[in-house]
Amino acid sequence: MPQMTDERVRAGLMREEDLSLLHEVSMKTAGVSRLEMCIQCGTCGGSCPAAADMDHTPRMLFAMLRAGMREEVLRSNTPWICVSCYHCVVRCPQEVHIADVMYTLKSMAIRAKLYQDSTAPHFSQTFVGMVETFGRGFELGLASRHYLRYFPLRLPGMAPMGFGMITKGRMPLAPRKIKHMTQLKAILKRAKHLELTS
Ligand code: SF4
Ligand code: SF4
Repeated sequence: MPQMTDERVRAGLMREEDLSLLHEVSMKTAGVSRLEMCIQCGTCGGSCPAAADMDHTPRMLFAMLRAGMREEVLRSNTPWICVSCYHCVVRCPQEVHIADVMYTLKSMAIRAKLYQDSTAPHFSQTFVGMVETFGRGFELGLASRHYLRYFPLRLPGMAPMGFGMITKGRMPLAPRKIKHMTQLKAILKRAKHLELTS
């Protein structure tokens, strides 16, 4: 976590509290985020399998939210590194919906065009496109499209794992549409409308 001692972060955290950003993120998060209940115990960062690759632990990110450090928060790689394992969520003593807050921060970072130069937004958008088309993810298509575009040299190394998954029936060769796709499309359309008008 090389940027944990970053001067700008330290200076920001020493500012007077500005809760407007914290409330904004809380309001934009689906359901009740309980973000305001964070007591800065650090259990989330200590539980996170991906923390070593994050520039700020979830605890630090929430402190930065409380300090109103919008740009630093939205530039952080932390939400993009989060793999939504929910380990922190089940261990948080305050029942903060940490993974859901990460989704909100990703969405805000994309809208503000502040996310780091990362391939993660493309990966997420490709996945969402597949859900909109087939009603579910299609791992083979997702991985090949993403790796062909960004990491073509890594594809040969992944082939044995992919082959093993295909032969064991864990990964289909072609996408399969869910039943009642029209109903899902109606739900997604309504969700997009609500997002635009909220
Ligand atoms: S575990 Fe919960 S209360 Fe503790 S720092 Fe993380 S979000 Fe805050
Ligand atoms: S949900 Fe995200 S932040 Fe929480 S432990 Fe898993 S990877 Fe870490």
